[in-house]
Amino acid sequence: MIPYGKQDISQADIDAVVEVLKSDWLTQGPEVPAFEKAVCDYTGAKHAVAVNSATSALHIACLALGVGAGDVVWTSPITFVASANCALYCGADVDFVDVDAATGNMCPKALELKLVAAKANGRLPKVVIPVHLCGHSCDMAPIAALASEYGFKLIEDASHAIGGSYQGKRIGSCAFSDITVFSFHPVKIVTSAEGGMALTNSSELAEKMELLRSHGITKAASLMTRPNEGDWYYEQLQLGFNYRMTDLQAALGLSQMARLETFVQTRNELACTYRDVLAQLSASVVEPLSGSHSAWHLMIVCLDVSAQRRRLFDEMRRMGIQVHVHYFPVYLQPYYQSHYQFQEGYCPRAEQFYQSILTLPLHCHLTDTSVNFIVSQLKALMDSTVNSEGGH
Ligand SMILES: *Cc1c(COP(=O)(O)O)cnc(C)c1O
Repeated sequence: MIPYGKQDISQADIDAVVEVLKSDWLTQGPEVPAFEKAVCDYTGAKHAVAVNSATSALHIACLALGVGAGDVVWTSPITFVASANCALYCGADVDFVDVDAATGNMCPKALELKLVAAKANGRLPKVVIPVHLCGHSCDMAPIAALASEYGFKLIEDASHAIGGSYQGKRIGSCAFSDITVFSFHPVKIVTSAEGGMALTNSSELAEKMELLRSHGITKAASLMTRPNEGDWYYEQLQLGFNYRMTDLQAALGLSQMARLETFVQTRNELACTYRDVLAQLSASVVEPLSGSHSAWHLMIVCLDVSAQRRRLFDEMRRMGIQVHVHYFPVYLQPYYQSHYQFQEGYCPRAEQFYQSILTLPLHCHLTDTSVNFIVSQLKALMDSTVNSEGGH
């Protein structure tokens, strides 16, 4: 079977985790801050808060930005459900901005139109969460301009995107946002098994997120109301969570960071090969914006004939090629339809995008030969449909 995504684990990764097992700390030791520092150094962000998943990072990012009951958060419908659920965890409402038909990323023009209408209705979003689908950056400059014009905050869901850049700025630098979130799930670019991180240039937001990841508890005397209680003492200042990352996970993530550039390079080379061999098919590759550099988490193709998608998916899977579909529009999920009454047709470009897409395998264990094999199988299937339909 050729999986659609797969982690790359080296002997150095294994050694790093084993070292932690032999050390004094399995959690809350030196590895978490070291991993946070490595990601700050790489991205240029001032602060990083490592947590047990990107889902947790999105949750505490929303809370740190003050999202609560009565607020509304906007995100993209073409994403994993976590980008929207985080708003609901805070008791806020969620709404969706339609995507660009070519990239599947939040469309700045659609965002602007929706903001104009929302302003007229007095229901502007508190936070907007653009998602960098495939690792291809959203067009953040116009989105950031709208954030200052309309006074909302921005969280980049960069779960797919560590290692990429936009307008010469690394994703995670927060040059165009308040907070950027990474995922280190095994299918993503860099893994810590489970894990996520929230990056920011604001010390105030970082401090809030650090409190929220560990029960809202502090041991910093400067933050306490009773600083002289004694050395055993800690104070709970807020209602937080146990969202901590372990040192085992951080050691793996830190060790992986040493190969981030190699991972992204390999993914870019494979994407080039895909682009070359896919040119002969009636399908187009979802490409990054010009002037941006993608981490290439996913290879998504848009099929000219979306009616073929189901058959191509089933046949490819039968052949052991684990194709996928990213993503079913979030607001059409039963939970969202029953609780929020979103109707089909709400974001027409997102629905059209969903109908036509197929994700092909892309990870560091693929070779040019496997890419050629995958595409030749896809081409054979597409040709056979054309023939069975009478050759047009
Ligand atoms: C994977 C993913 C998440 C959630 O990441 P976890 O680390 O598994 O919580 C959120 N958003 C997007 C776009 C993702 O792809």
